[in-house]
Amino acid sequence: MLRHAGDLGDRLGARRDVRKRRATTRDGSVRARTIGPRAPRHAVVASRASTQQCDAVRKFIHIDMDAFYASVEQRDDPSLRGRPVVVAWRGARSVVCAASYEARTYGVRSAMPAVRAERLCPDAVFVPPDFTRYKAVSQQVRAILLRHTDLVEPLSLDEAYLDVTEPKSALPSATAIARSIREQIREETALTASAGVAPAKFLAKIASDWRKPDGLFVIRPHEVRDFLEPLPVARIHGVGKVMDGKLAALGIRTVGELRAFDAHALEARFGRYGRRLAELAHGVDHGEVRPDRPTQSISSEDTFAEDVPLAATEPVIRDLAARTWAATRRTERIGRTVVLKLKTREFRILTRSRTPEAPPHSVDELTGIALALREQVALPASTLYRLVGVGLANFCDPDDTPAQSTLFD
Ligand SMILES: [Mg+2]
Repeated sequence: MLRHAGDLGDRLGARRDVRKRRATTRDGSVRARTIGPRAPRHAVVASRASTQQCDAVRKFIHIDMDAFYASVEQRDDPSLRGRPVVVAWRGARSVVCAASYEARTYGVRSAMPAVRAERLCPDAVFVPPDFTRYKAVSQQVRAILLRHTDLVEPLSLDEAYLDVTEPKSALPSATAIARSIREQIREETALTASAGVAPAKFLAKIASDWRKPDGLFVIRPHEVRDFLEPLPVARIHGVGKVMDGKLAALGIRTVGELRAFDAHALEARFGRYGRRLAELAHGVDHGEVRPDRPTQSISSEDTFAEDVPLAATEPVIRDLAARTWAATRRTERIGRTVVLKLKTREFRILTRSRTPEAPPHSVDELTGIALALREQVALPASTLYRLVGVGLANFCDPDDTPAQSTLFD
């Protein structure tokens, strides 16, 4: 997961075998959805109960740390303060993980290729990411959030939703809670966070972005309509470029226009998502804060610095299987389906999967299945691959799996 050691080795001209090349990946992180212990069941029950009681006024906060990784770097190294900092591995295919606000004034954004960031801001200081440190700070922030409610849903290391309809703290309002959280984060981590307060989750997320950085924005229930009306539809979470284009083709550019559009027509055109869009346009969001989001899949993937033929992928598949297996040790749930993902030089994505009768019980079993799946790829031998991934999906609780392993325990 921490690639920069290898990356430095690469830059220093280390031997360029497959493993070294792999070190300049753009995304080598293990993606483990919902790691950590599951929240106690009563928390979920509490969430449902509060929803029913308080359907009229529910109170959500979205907390978003400002330029998180870059801010941690600037905090820990005073020489970086006030300078454009780009958190990214170096390398032709690396992408920006985070950019400080100084770097953003040059147009640098996260997820942009690092080489482009370098062109936009030649004076930027490039820092390789250190996720161990970011995770530690993230846990500190999580602890602060949990003082106010058990209903905390982390979205990533630097973002979380809170349902504060029935808070633990005795503060008089959701706004007061958001203020208190921002103060506590500042005092205890020396970092800033932006907060959005609203009667719906999706609105809270838009609100936290409204006064960024170091801002607080509140949308009160009676303000929802006026706030939403002029907003471009792309501001709605989930409306990407493609959907934005489809809506524009229907003459829908703002949320007001979306609201005026016939809801049935939206549903007929876009299915369930169309219905959801119509609801969101009216400020209606049934989304609840889900502190207990069970693991659905865990995967690791790597992009090669130079494309390789299928035959050369075995060492990487072994390594990825080991990383995925290690990540699964953090959840009690059991992954039943093994997934192998490959991306060709032409960006064609192939996935092969297998659900064995009994879920894989060891890293060797997982590796064996992943390698067997590779044999099912029937593209010409000359095909080159830029990325490979190994994952486990289709997770279930231990109680739901056949008990054969316990027979011999
Ligand atoms: Mg952030």
